[in-house]
Amino acid sequence: PSALRAIEVESPNVNWDDIGGLERVKQKLQESVEGALLYPELYQQTKAKAPQGILLWGPPGTGKTLLAKAIATQARANFIAVNGPELLSKWVGAAEQAVRELFIKARQASPCVVFVDELDTLAPARGKFSGDSGVSDRVVGQLLTELDGLQSATNVLLVGATNRPDALDPALLRAGRLDLQMKIDLPDADSRLAILQVHNQDRPLSDVDLVALAASTDGWNGADLALLSNQAALEAVRRFRASGEADPTTLQITADDIAVAYELLAEQ
Ligand code: ATP
Repeated sequence: PSALRAIEVESPNVNWDDIGGLERVKQKLQESVEGALLYPELYQQTKAKAPQGILLWGPPGTGKTLLAKAIATQARANFIAVNGPELLSKWVGAAEQAVRELFIKARQASPCVVFVDELDTLAPARGKFSGDSGVSDRVVGQLLTELDGLQSATNVLLVGATNRPDALDPALLRAGRLDLQMKIDLPDADSRLAILQVHNQDRPLSDVDLVALAASTDGWNGADLALLSNQAALEAVRRFRASGEADPTTLQITADDIAVAYELLAEQ
């Protein structure tokens, strides 16, 4: 029986347009999808090299998981998401086996994108961290072996995410492994506007100035902006119910609702 029965194979539906900002990153990733998942035989024929694996690094809540799902969506590939610490805690003492089975599962589900969040916990620099993290050098070795086995033809793409790229075993970043590395930054004002537009495009906004809101949310990540948008919608519902109005089609999200949500989140 597989130790990884619990691992779910998804078919995600995230389009590139669902991700605000990150234009250069999105374009680069689209090319990789073509190489690794859509047209591997053309790349093989011309010996064009597509990345076998991708590392997305940077602060949390900036869209790394979304990007991995968009890759899978574009390639009409399956998607398996695991989290480093979770994988380790579920299969204590058998982490090496867990890594092996993860890739067996991915090959069975190919074309498949394997997303490993907090990759640094699964593949810390050998010798340096392995003593106290409980990750044996063999786990890291197994991961490297699996990566080396991912020829384009197997249609499996590993996407790793981390906030601490310096903690990763450097062997992981060598050519032919996670050879495309992209930094995912906190969004600037333009990107914050794009993210706010994504999260409000289907919402009835009345007098809301998203440009001003983007300008006043310096330091917020995409997850914060998604939360803010939803919080404002909740506030609108609360206000509407308190008003005693009956016709839901008249309900809109106002600048005041946004202000209430902003105060709430800015405090946290
Ligand atoms: P973590 O490292 O904490 O796992 P992450 O970088 O993988 O974070 P995501 O899980 O992709 O972040 O983002 C969390 C949520 O925040 C998304 O589901 C989405 O609602 C929102 N979000 C983050 N970044 C963006 C973005 N660029 N465009 C639109 N929504 C975003």
